[in-house]
Amino acid sequence: MNFSSILLSWYAINKRPLPWRSDIKPYKIWLSEIIFQQTRIDQGIAYYHRFIEAYPDILQLANASIDSVLKLWQGLGYYSRARYLHQTANIIINNFQGEFPQDLKELKKLPGIGNYTAAAIASICFGKSEPVLDGNAIRVYCRFLGIAGDTTKSSTRSEIMKAANSLISEKHPGDYNQAVMEFGALHCTPANPDCSTCPFRNHCSAYRQKTVSHIPYKNPSTKKKNRHFHYFCISDESLSFIYLLKRQKKDIWNGLYEFPMIETEKESSLEELFSIVFFSQHFKKDLHIRSTENPAKHILSHQNLFLCFYHIIIGEEQNLIPGSDWIKIKTSVVHEYPVAKPIADYLQKLLK
Ligand code: SF4
Repeated sequence: MNFSSILLSWYAINKRPLPWRSDIKPYKIWLSEIIFQQTRIDQGIAYYHRFIEAYPDILQLANASIDSVLKLWQGLGYYSRARYLHQTANIIINNFQGEFPQDLKELKKLPGIGNYTAAAIASICFGKSEPVLDGNAIRVYCRFLGIAGDTTKSSTRSEIMKAANSLISEKHPGDYNQAVMEFGALHCTPANPDCSTCPFRNHCSAYRQKTVSHIPYKNPSTKKKNRHFHYFCISDESLSFIYLLKRQKKDIWNGLYEFPMIETEKESSLEELFSIVFFSQHFKKDLHIRSTENPAKHILSHQNLFLCFYHIIIGEEQNLIPGSDWIKIKTSVVHEYPVAKPIADYLQKLLK
């Protein structure tokens, strides 16, 4: 059987009419691949349209401020993607005269572009025979060929890549790659794949051996780290201003704004927090804590965050000694600052 021609026929009938597919441009393909790396199509499509509207081409994205790019990204998570987007746009403008390189190795040197995105751009935009391996493609290859090894292991990945290289359509590598990902997303789904109407049914190893539900196999990831963030929203009585600062550490939410905060390794009461030098450093008098929100759990891929918010009212401004990196912001413009979703949610409740 000819895997690629059957797959391409399936794709011609079943592909979704996504906006970047009707007008193949490296900028649009790159943007869509970055947005949809860790995001479902239905979740990310509004972001794609928002970015194309705000930055119709790569020059406008490069000329934008990183704060406005992060603001537009707000709520999508994995914020390093937005920072890399901005860095790569600037490199393309400054070093490549505004044109994406066509070579896989050159593409992979750009920030935020790994094997997967480089292969997608090279094949879809420039017709290079480079297979893409995202979660959907991996599932299709593993099931069809009966590859049962741990897909997080490099030896299994090499086996899948070798198979993908032998199956890819040399004539239509871009359509082929999109087809295999689309087939995984719509037909050979993680749970309840539609094997009964599958065009590969008679040749699918997992189907024949009744191992579909066990393939692909992924070793359960290691235990997640728990982190406790205590945020202090400091304002005057009438909430005319608050303090924010920009996260600068190599850590989650780098480049986003947040309230002054303390991080602890375990859950801590307010009394325990009071003993931390942060308070004597920044507040001269007893504190007026207007409200405390119970810790809310925010789950990320490798860590669980427990976020607690304290609203502190400072009566007299001279009672406060702001940190050197704190920025006093009028609450009327706070919505212009990019913040992580839990902080945006807290501010929305506080200011409504
Ligand atoms: S037969 Fe089932 S498991 Fe095999 S490729 Fe088709 S949908 Fe996937």
